[in-house]
Amino acid sequence: MIDRREMLKLSAAGLGSLAVSCSGRVPETSAPARPGPFKYRVSVGWLRDLASEPAPNDKWPCIRWDDKLLEDQVRYLDTEAELGMNCNCAWGLFRSTDWPVPFEKVIDEARAEKLKAFVDAAHARGLKILAGVGIYSWGFDEVIRKVPGVSGGSSRQVMCAFSEPAWEWQQKVLDFHMEPRWGLDGISMQSADQGRCECPRCSRLSPARYHALLLTRCAAYVRRNRPDWVIGQASWGLRVDLPEELEPVREISAAVDYMVEVRELSAETGRRAEIIAGLGCAFGSLGGVFLEPPQHWERLRWFLPCGLGSARSLSRLRRDGGLACEYFYRPFGNPVEEVSWRTGAAVLSEPGTGPEEALRRAAGAVYGVSGESLDSLAGLLARGEEAYFSRVGFRPGHGSISLEPLIWKENPAAPGPPVYLEVMTAGARQDYARELRELKARLEEIDIPDRRAAVDTARCIDGTLRDIAALA
Ligand SMILES: [Zn+2]
Repeated sequence: MIDRREMLKLSAAGLGSLAVSCSGRVPETSAPARPGPFKYRVSVGWLRDLASEPAPNDKWPCIRWDDKLLEDQVRYLDTEAELGMNCNCAWGLFRSTDWPVPFEKVIDEARAEKLKAFVDAAHARGLKILAGVGIYSWGFDEVIRKVPGVSGGSSRQVMCAFSEPAWEWQQKVLDFHMEPRWGLDGISMQSADQGRCECPRCSRLSPARYHALLLTRCAAYVRRNRPDWVIGQASWGLRVDLPEELEPVREISAAVDYMVEVRELSAETGRRAEIIAGLGCAFGSLGGVFLEPPQHWERLRWFLPCGLGSARSLSRLRRDGGLACEYFYRPFGNPVEEVSWRTGAAVLSEPGTGPEEALRRAAGAVYGVSGESLDSLAGLLARGEEAYFSRVGFRPGHGSISLEPLIWKENPAAPGPPVYLEVMTAGARQDYARELRELKARLEEIDIPDRRAAVDTARCIDGTLRDIAALA
């Protein structure tokens, strides 16, 4: 049996597949050419999505940046470098929903120091830092309230594509990001997540035509000023799979470095490979299966392995010619979340890695196990994933899984209910609880050197069992 250090050496030599043969399978003598790595291996999230401490009393999205968060971020960058990721895209580096009017005192000195430390730590590890940037929306709530003429009157969150003052404000925001003092390496743009301007002039444009207007305008502006930058784009709220919208989607692709389809509808049309071949940029997804990190919850409240689902989705995407992924942050304070994250991330840098092998490596790294114990633990985590997903109707590539509601209308500043369990029938939940108790008993039989990770995992299972009991 191969140990972890050997596996890393083989992996570093690009021979990770040999590890599979050592776990019992016969190596293929005439294996097909292995696909090259994804080009844009981008982790993404709101600043605190990876935090080891929850923010139970804050409205989402909380972007408080304290020493503990910086420590978590550096640990995360270490893991990204280990797994061969090359970009980290953070939302909320400066503000969450409100760029200030007038545009001054955007952040204080303490936050600027945190940002510098984060960017320096990334660069020291060979990673680029991208800023998530709202385009004509996300961040302009105060601008729309205070500046006449920026809005078409149809939304309190979206500016008008044809407003000159709106473009001036958008440029202020882009200029601010491009200031050399921050050391940023690029942006990922979102224009559609909060809808679009519905004024009479904007309404004449189809959704993709409307967003192409905004995105190509902003990408060209940034490219002119920072030709060295990575420019990404994530299509939250915008479909890119519709044949009648292909032309504006191609225009967007000619202006950016990568484009991410949030719901993988193009895959279901069977034409994803064809669509990708016609684009001018790298195309990608969010990794198929991802959890919205629950801002308010204690980090050991849930047990929901889902790395195999991500790895399988990413393998399919790569076979279709995909080369980009905005892969969600996860809080590594929950060891199962770290395993899931590592499982998908391994496929981004080595797409030929089988999902089960990626899971084995991830479990070995997080729990310090090898040999038969690793076989048992990887099997247990795979069964834990199947236990949940076989009882719910979730389809990979159809958006995120909410553990608690992202924005809980009843009280945005309080932990929300476990909606991921509410989607099961009461009978299915009881059956799921029975299986989780079995998994916990098996976990306790495995010889796991990292006792803290083992104990924390048992606590995660208990957390889910408690939530099931409360729903009964
Ligand atoms: Zn308008």
